[in-house]
Amino acid sequence: MSLLDIEDLSITFPVEGGPDVPAVEGIDLSVEAGEIHGLVGESGSGKSVTARSVMRLLDDAEVGAKRFDYRGEDLYDKSEAEMRQVRGDEIGMVFQDSLSALNPVMTVGEQIAEVVRHHGDVEESTGLLSELRRKYITGTSTSAPSWRRAVSLLETVGIPDPETVATSYPHQLSGGQRQRVMIASALGGDPSLIVADEPTTALDVTVEAGILGELRRLCDELDVAILLITHDLGVVAETCDSVTVMYSGSVMERGRTDQLFENPVHPYTKGLLRSIPEGASTGGELTTIPGSAPEPTDRPDGCPFRDRCPAAFDACSEPLPEHVVDDGHVSHCHLYTEGDDPGEVTWDAPAATNGSLDGTTERTHTEVTDG
Ligand code: SF4
Repeated sequence: MSLLDIEDLSITFPVEGGPDVPAVEGIDLSVEAGEIHGLVGESGSGKSVTARSVMRLLDDAEVGAKRFDYRGEDLYDKSEAEMRQVRGDEIGMVFQDSLSALNPVMTVGEQIAEVVRHHGDVEESTGLLSELRRKYITGTSTSAPSWRRAVSLLETVGIPDPETVATSYPHQLSGGQRQRVMIASALGGDPSLIVADEPTTALDVTVEAGILGELRRLCDELDVAILLITHDLGVVAETCDSVTVMYSGSVMERGRTDQLFENPVHPYTKGLLRSIPEGASTGGELTTIPGSAPEPTDRPDGCPFRDRCPAAFDACSEPLPEHVVDDGHVSHCHLYTEGDDPGEVTWDAPAATNGSLDGTTERTHTEVTDG
């Protein structure tokens, strides 16, 4: 049984007086205990709403799924009071923008200590009066177990001089330190899963490497699973055990990281891989996937990648099939039907600009070249 097991997820945002916006459709996603699973895609692919649906943070959306299990229990069967316990006790979240997510008028130590008291393993009163007294009069005593735990968590996420940092306000810290504080806070309830939504996007490359290394270490040492949302396949390669590639609200390919990097089969995954900027610093040309993703209300029938895919053919207007490439490695593409060798394809001429989506294209393709 997977720690998180989602089958056939759809998320739609109703719009008054306009067409509803289908954010994602038919998503399967599973995260195993103690692994880092990357959810990767361009902006607008639906990866962040998928992540937020795990925390049930989508008040304005209609969420449907055949299965939405965490530890074998349906998260969408739980009451809001039960979900408040799940958030923090079981599943922690790290947001992209730490400055907005952290309370600007509380020290970071107070913020982490509060999570520890409500969700962690300490014996301290969390009654309203006690919390108000701490918040407005006394602060948390530095000898209180929740404060000591907060300091120890700051140390766990690699912050030097954690006693001093604990007494700092968010604006007094660097972006990298704030992200580490967010991770420490997410760990406050000893969760089994952390959902990290683009946790390093706003950071420079060296700080990003430090945070990703910290996530990897926490996963290995504390046996915490992490659902890592990112638009960067390089981050996936360095950090994740397994990956789901999303495009325009659908899953394109998923599998172990080594399977996807060594044997990518989906044209979109191949396009992303060839877009990793190797050699750009030495004057090499950056490679991109021509075109742009469709609006959620204007997706083509069948495969949403049709208008950009150099391998598109007639069948691509039909609902996407599931093709098992290898154990745990799945592609959703009409090229790869059972026993079928898809032939050669290059990225030079996207099908849409070649006039090949008019229903007359013959099927002549295979491998999208990676170079
Ligand atoms: Fe989509 Fe068809 Fe291209 Fe496969 S070949 S990615 S189904 S458009």
